[in-house]
Amino acid sequence: MFLFDPTYIILLPALILSLYASWKVRATFSYFSQIPNSRRITGAEAARILLGALGLHDVKIELTPGSLTDHYDPRTKTLRLSEPVYYSPSISALGVCAHEIGHAIQHAQGYLPLVFRSTLVPVAALGTNMAFPLFFIGFLFGNPSLMTIGILAFSLGVLFYIVTLPVEINASKRARELLLSSGMITAREAEGVKAVLNSAALTYLAAAAMALLQLLRLILLANMRRRD
Ligand SMILES: [Zn+2]
Repeated sequence: MFLFDPTYIILLPALILSLYASWKVRATFSYFSQIPNSRRITGAEAARILLGALGLHDVKIELTPGSLTDHYDPRTKTLRLSEPVYYSPSISALGVCAHEIGHAIQHAQGYLPLVFRSTLVPVAALGTNMAFPLFFIGFLFGNPSLMTIGILAFSLGVLFYIVTLPVEINASKRARELLLSSGMITAREAEGVKAVLNSAALTYLAAAAMALLQLLRLILLANMRRRD
């Protein structure tokens, strides 16, 4: 009953949004990867220039395997760019590299949502790992307290996905401003950058929606079990 229960239907909208978002981000990224930027500048070159101009000389730039695996690691102050960004002189490459630099700026400035998100990482990971076993045992034995603890633990993970949204949207906003103010892209190219970054933001929105609906589902299951 727990594994094949009808409350799974609640997750359907988020599942559809997730599938759409992951298709959309790949399609948009690959479309603008085919379009070279007017200055023919690669992601790695752009990163070096922008980090230098920002005075972030202690941020390292590394190549990382995979596609759409680009990220900024605040612990080691490293900007990791995937091959399609690192070597490509495309609109997509500039958008993604500037977005990751946006995170480096957030880190350097102590941007509060990022600080909160980083503090939340270990707690949210623990909460997510504990949530389902606790909830499941509580559900199985009809123990409302255990189900509630499971739900609270899961909420920590949900909070993480929600805090991620302003962090990501802000990094993308910084990215566009940075690329425009540095003269690295034209206003027309900024539209392409915006499309790439908006499609990436959609994947974070889908993840947050999925987490929220999963939480709602657990609450519903707990209520149903209590009434049994
Ligand atoms: Zn990001």
